[in-house]
Amino acid sequence: MNRKIIHIDMDAFYASVEIRDNPELLGKPVIIGALPGTRGVVSTCNYEARKYGVHSAMSVSEAYRLCPKGIFLNTHMSKYVKESEKIHKIMESYTDMIEYVSLDEGYMDVTASEKFFGSAEEIGKDLKKRVFEETGLTCSVGIGYSMTSAKTASEEKKPDGFFVIPNREAFVELIHDRPIRALYGVGEKTAKQLANRGYEVVSDLYELNPSDLDFLGKIGKEIYLHAQGYCNREVTPNEEQKSVGREYTFQSDLTTREEIEEIIHFISRQVSNILKNKGIKGKTVTIKIKYSNMKSITRSRTISYTDSARTIYDTGIKLLGFVELNHPVRLVGVTVSNMEGEQGEKQLSFEDFVSEDTEINDKIDDVIFDINKTMGRGSIKTGKEMLFEKNFRNKN
Ligand SMILES: [Mg+2]
Repeated sequence: MNRKIIHIDMDAFYASVEIRDNPELLGKPVIIGALPGTRGVVSTCNYEARKYGVHSAMSVSEAYRLCPKGIFLNTHMSKYVKESEKIHKIMESYTDMIEYVSLDEGYMDVTASEKFFGSAEEIGKDLKKRVFEETGLTCSVGIGYSMTSAKTASEEKKPDGFFVIPNREAFVELIHDRPIRALYGVGEKTAKQLANRGYEVVSDLYELNPSDLDFLGKIGKEIYLHAQGYCNREVTPNEEQKSVGREYTFQSDLTTREEIEEIIHFISRQVSNILKNKGIKGKTVTIKIKYSNMKSITRSRTISYTDSARTIYDTGIKLLGFVELNHPVRLVGVTVSNMEGEQGEKQLSFEDFVSEDTEINDKIDDVIFDINKTMGRGSIKTGKEMLFEKNFRNKN
């Protein structure tokens, strides 16, 4: 069957969100990730910054060297997640056959949607328009007969692009004289290996037998097929979330148990918020500690299903009790895994309020959580949290 695949990719996503919210940044090179003088890496930069050679995954210090006039910003993940949710909702209005690659990128198989929403092209145009109307952000949309061709199509006219590769012939026509690096699955290292044997452009692979690329291992056959426009990857809706966790690396090492406890407290609340937003619970709590000598350890404990910040925190602190703190600590992480499926709403009874301490604290957490959700994050805090945030800011 002839499949219709859409690949959508937001343009310079994090940077575009920041510019939308602060129009003064418009036209300037904007680099998101971390501030100069820190250990961070670039997560996104806009097209102005790319002109200086800045790209994602580059260290911030390298980016600063290339573009000292750039505007460097820390990431504001909660903002990006909020936009991402809006975009995902629009995508989900056409099909449930969606494979999300990241917050701002995903594949949709709209083969079966065409009879409800018009042709794949019409869906793609509508999608682009609605994303812009609802978020003020541009995206690039590619339509193909396979995942690989859809991805190639969305890159074709980036940013704010729209491009269609209707069939295998059109794909081959488009890419046959491009460097092999343009093929899906070919990274720098593979491209080098191929160049060493004299294969530079895609059409160089046409005279080969599939086994001629065996020296690349399993991927050789795949590259051979991709070069000819064959791709049998299928849009696979993402599995249910297996874990929720956060970890932080610190510029100055943590040396006391109290500091680490405060960070576990902070992360526990974050993880709890994510779990509650997604309506999921998990029963295994894991903490991760990485020392300044780069050695890292994890400790886990399985309890009953929870999404409570306090329970996650209490478990994390117990686990920390099993960790030797004989070296300065550079990274702290907390994860909840072993997720439970959809939970039925639990009715509150009077007993719930008079049961043991942790239950009551769960209820307080829930109330604080709900207030924050309606009034905006940080509207209400526990005293401990306020103290911690003050210290956390000084430290990080
Ligand atoms: Mg993107």
